[in-house]
Amino acid sequence: MIKIHNLGFPRLGEHRELKFALERYWRGEIDQDELERIATELRQRHWRLQASSGLDFIPVGDFSYYDQVLDTSVMLGVIPERFGSSTGVDTYFRMARGQSTDGQPYRACEMTKWFDTNYHYLVPEVTADQQFALSSTKLFDETSELQALGYQPKPVLLGPLTWLWLAKTTSDFNKLDLVDRLLPVYGEILRRLADQGVEWVQIDEPILVLDLPSAWKNAFEAVYNRLQSSPVKILLATYFGELGEHASFVCRLPVAGLHIDLVRAPEQLASVLDNFANHKILSLGLIDGRNIWRTNLNAALSTITAARERFKGELWLAPSCSLLHVPIDLEHETALNPTIKSWLAFARQKLTELEVLRLAIEEPTAAAQDLLVSANAIRSRRESTLIHNPAVQAAMEKINDSLMQRQNSFPVRRGQQQARLNLPRYPTTTIGSFPQTPEIRKARADFKRGLISEIDYIKHMEQTIEFCVREQESLGLDVLVHGEGERNDMVEYFGEQLDGFLFTANGWVQSYGSRCVKPPIIYGDVSRPKPMTVRWSQYAQSLTDKPMKGMLTGPVTILNWSFVRDDQPRSTTAYQLALAIREEVNDLERAGIPIIQIDEAAFREGLPPRQSRWQGYLDWAVRAFRLCSSGVQDSTQIHTHMCYSEFNDIITSIADMDADVITIETSRSNMELLEAFIDFNYPNEIGPGVYDIHSPNVPTTGDMIALLKKAGEHIAPDQLWVNPDCGLKTRQWQDVRTSLANMTEAAKFLRSAI
Ligand code: GLN
Ligand code: ZN
Repeated sequence: MIKIHNLGFPRLGEHRELKFALERYWRGEIDQDELERIATELRQRHWRLQASSGLDFIPVGDFSYYDQVLDTSVMLGVIPERFGSSTGVDTYFRMARGQSTDGQPYRACEMTKWFDTNYHYLVPEVTADQQFALSSTKLFDETSELQALGYQPKPVLLGPLTWLWLAKTTSDFNKLDLVDRLLPVYGEILRRLADQGVEWVQIDEPILVLDLPSAWKNAFEAVYNRLQSSPVKILLATYFGELGEHASFVCRLPVAGLHIDLVRAPEQLASVLDNFANHKILSLGLIDGRNIWRTNLNAALSTITAARERFKGELWLAPSCSLLHVPIDLEHETALNPTIKSWLAFARQKLTELEVLRLAIEEPTAAAQDLLVSANAIRSRRESTLIHNPAVQAAMEKINDSLMQRQNSFPVRRGQQQARLNLPRYPTTTIGSFPQTPEIRKARADFKRGLISEIDYIKHMEQTIEFCVREQESLGLDVLVHGEGERNDMVEYFGEQLDGFLFTANGWVQSYGSRCVKPPIIYGDVSRPKPMTVRWSQYAQSLTDKPMKGMLTGPVTILNWSFVRDDQPRSTTAYQLALAIREEVNDLERAGIPIIQIDEAAFREGLPPRQSRWQGYLDWAVRAFRLCSSGVQDSTQIHTHMCYSEFNDIITSIADMDADVITIETSRSNMELLEAFIDFNYPNEIGPGVYDIHSPNVPTTGDMIALLKKAGEHIAPDQLWVNPDCGLKTRQWQDVRTSLANMTEAAKFLRSAI
């Protein structure tokens, strides 16, 4: 007997219905009843859809108004004091958004990335004397709601250890000590679910794919020993990676079932089978919950067969992780090339694949036709001329270390750049984008819809650039930018101009709360048919004697923010992207642009869950950056930008990238984040952000002088740049003007002080 199940389903709806309902609720346009009505309808629609694929269990509790980690915190009664004690939906949104319905500001809970996905969760906050109490009936209500429709529920709970691991402590204590107080609430939840007639509960413990301190490993045994005494069966779900050396203790945990991710870590099947007892159930995550490719069903079948040869217990089949990370339904993509479309599977199609897999085992002849279609699609993709570009292959073969090496080392380049650019000490610059006004957005949208001609569009953008350049000149900035008005998004803009990319009409994926992204799909060999940014930068440079900085997105960031090919290593795709960006860099140089910034905002987030695999990633990520940036003369200055902070553990690789200048985010942390660079004796130039662009506050000259002085205590004055934390596209001109004027004042002050 084989059962099929799902770990979680996207919540926002195929037309982002929940997004729009939430935003209307926040604007006061609909009331809570209406919001709940829409949510209920969506949940039920998604349950029906999952049931129609023949799932034996339907996940429940995966629905959320904002975030499942926040839901868990609220259920456990963990609401930081500043939000008051009520547990209603408005408190919930206050925690998430930092605003009450009447517009009063609160300090929102921190938000951060969910493992290595692009989904963001709200960080739980726990105190040393934290108390826990079951404080929400959401999970029980939704379970009854699902049962009323006649389906078999499998409630999904974020596990106690993962929840605690993700929490931040407000003072210095060992948060693991809280587990004893926390467990009774989990016990109560499981008991209540049992009372409702629930047989299986899925408890997610994705931290089991991370490196864990031994105290945390040991805690698993104790925690699940206590939880297993409850009258439900526990399916312990792990995903996003391999159990690795944890496999033996995880397999022995006293739970009724275990789910493992065989897409990210197919090799772990063997070690799990070595340790797994036949009386338990084993759930194989065979369908990729993180990507949009059709599954190779025949390969999946071989895996199942291999498992069945060694494992005599009950097998379940599932996606590798929750389907939260993929769009809902491919059928809405009516404009896609039909061949490419036949290679894809979104959430709904993935569930159908599960159904076929089960059928293929139980009634092979009945599944033959579906398996054939699947095999044909796999073959069509493998052999397609759409994905193979001989010119790209030829260029890839020519990649060698010399292409990743600037002509001379940094000290030599620096001399040449100084001679060419003639910049003052503490040079001032920005990160690239300037405010995206409604007029700019309208011009872009009108052009896209064919409402204005290309000539008019170009004229409009050139006016925007001119305005931006004049503003920067009058602010007295030293290195100017064109302002990025033509860009909707820093990845999409390039993807749209590169070959090998595809864009969906409706492929939305939740990023956080009501926010969605529509990641591009890299389906084939990547190449650059023609220059992408040169015209804008060249025009901008023609307007001014100040140096103009060209602005590109780096290969690693484009890769990390797209759905990527799974038929070749990520590194191969990264190198192809690097070759395309390299051509753009070289063209910008030829067009007379003396400084080129290659943004790698998502460099850090590509790090694999296990530290033992970090170096492998960092090696090729650094090489991809060097490949795209090393084709220029010594006198051309390469910048990179990373808008985050934690550099401690990757500083060697950052230095290896060998950008002449790196700008980073530091203003919020009061320059503490610079420490990694200081300790490392980072040799190249560095611009620690002094202006927090995420806040509506205008920084004063004094604030920024203080930050720069702090940085200057350890970093030589001739190494320091003066710039904001990140791009300014979400800000208003009025604030930007004052803030940047204060920033250039701060630089002037420091110059006069030397
Ligand atoms: N150049 C981009 C901008 O200024 C960088 C954005 C980012 O790092 N997220 O908008
Ligand atoms: Zn940034």
